Parts: sequence; C-alpha cells; structure tokens
Amino acid sequence: GYCFRKPRNRSLSVINEEVQEALKYRKRIGLMGAAISDYPEIDALCKDILGEGLSMSVASFRADSVTKELVESLAESGLKTLTMAPEAGSDRMRAVINKGIEEHHLFHSMDLGLSAGIRNFRLYIMVGLPFEEEEDIDAIIDLAERLKDYMETRGSKGTLTLSVNPFIPKPFTPFQWEPMADRKTVEKRLKRLEKTLRRRKHVVVNIESPKEAYIQGVLSRGDRRVGAALMRAHELGGSKAFKRALKELHLDPAFYLYRKRPESELFPWERLDMGFKKAYLYEELKRAEALKPTIPCFEGCHRCGVC
Ligand code: SF4
Repeated sequence: GYCFRKPRNRSLSVINEEVQEALKYRKRIGLMGAAISDYPEIDALCKDILGEGLSMSVASFRADSVTKELVESLAESGLKTLTMAPEAGSDRMRAVINKGIEEHHLFHSMDLGLSAGIRNFRLYIMVGLPFEEEEDIDAIIDLAERLKDYMETRGSKGTLTLSVNPFIPKPFTPFQWEPMADRKTVEKRLKRLEKTLRRRKHVVVNIESPKEAYIQGVLSRGDRRVGAALMRAHELGGSKAFKRALKELHLDPAFYLYRKRPESELFPWERLDMGFKKAYLYEELKRAEALKPTIPCFEGCHRCGVC
C-alpha cells in the first residue's frame, strides 16, 4: 500500500461503465483489489451487478469491513469458499503488522457467510513475521481450531483451509530493514502447524514452498549484482540453479536475507521516489515493534509526505 498512496476510489458510475464493457465478454464479474470491502459503495455495486443478471467474485476481503450485502451477493453468485486474510493468529502479531483486524471481525464474517449458505472458509496466514515467537504459532492453531468449532456449532460440515506463506520483507515497507526469519525456524514452525492441524477433520493446510520464498526473499531486496545471478541461473537451467549461480558469483544469500540493516543503509530501490519520507517508514517500524497502531489515510493528513 505504500507505493501508490493515497488510496483513491473510482466512482460507482465509472465502475458500472466498466461492468457494461465487460458484459460483452463474460457474465461473471471479478472485483480485483487489496481491500474490496473497503470500497464505500460496495453494496450499491453488488446490487447493480446482480441486477444486470450477472454473477460476481472477489479474491478476498477485509474481515472488518465486509457487509451482509457483499457476502449475500457472493453466495448468490455461487461462491463456495469465503476467503479472509487475518495474516496472523495472535492479537500481538496483528498489531505488529498493523492489520487492524480483531478476532470478532473474523467470527462476524464467518457468521455472515454461514447465514448466506457458504460452507467453506479460507484463511491467509503468514509465518516468519518480524518479532514472531513460538506462542504466535500456537495462536494460529488455536484460532483455526476455534473457527472450525464455530463452523460446526453452526451446522457446517465444510472445510477450513489455511493458506500459509513465509513472510518476505519488501522494499518500501517498514520491514525493509528487518531480516527475513531464519529458514530452518520457519520450516519447523510450518511443520508444527501442519502436523497439529492435520489431526482435525476438514481442516486443510496449504503451505507455499519455503525454498521458493527464500529465492523471492533474495530477489525482493536484491541489488544490481543479483541481476547477474539471475542471468547465470537462467543459463544453468532456471530457478533450481539460483543458489549455485549466487555461489559462482560469490554472492552470499545471507547478505540479502538475514541482515538487520542499519537505519542509515542506502537501499538500491531508493532510486525510485514513491513520494513518502523514508523516516516515516522507519517510524512505522518502531511503532510496529512497540505494538502501536497506525490509523489509515484521512483527509487533511500530512504524515508521510505524500499529501
Ligand atoms: S500524507 Fe497521510 S493521507 Fe496522505 S498518503 Fe500519507 S498517510 Fe496517507
């Protein structure tokens, strides 16, 4: 969200024009965005889409802004699985990433889904977040168990799926200074999650390959030398040869993955100007560490330097 601040909404009439255009090709409208349910006119948009005799789908939504109208429209469109992205299991971890979602939001969204006839649910979860402890993994297991209990209490025999990804620190985010979590620790935590939750019927844990995630980790915060390694890996046969290519070029993956970078480090990506002050991101990192929430953008705000 830092690269394209501040959030802007397209007007309902513009989106409806686009729906009319899409109508020529398909009868199903996919709404794309990081936070579809945050769109202020989501209910009216759902009504308009269904009113045209079309069906609709969304990738996922924020559990704290989901509406009955949206969930019912999705159910009416034949949606079988509702996806929510709490990202973490504990309140503490969600405070670190400033997620702004609390447990009751998840249960409320599930409630809306179950009432609308949706039986299956999916949670997006990250492991290896900065400042994560073993207790935070226990909290993911506990949250999944309680959500599944709730589904059963409400008579749903559906599946609860956890899609779990290792966290990758990204440029232009408060975590750009942070090391990626140690791969062995992350693998152990992923295994524990999977092993514990596998015992439960109708709970599925899908895990992204840590190997891929650590390649992404190098690419994510790499510098110009990583370009040469990419070329060499390509010559050697592709992503499987990436580690070998780094070695041939005397590049240590730990330099990109595991260093806690000093505040003053000059990043390769600073050649791009995203409009906000670097000091603002560092302040946000400190707030994350102190579990202090940051409110979203608002009219009249001048905090980060974009407006
Ligand atoms: S100045 Fe405030 S409102 Fe504008 S982009 Fe930054 S945080 Fe958002």
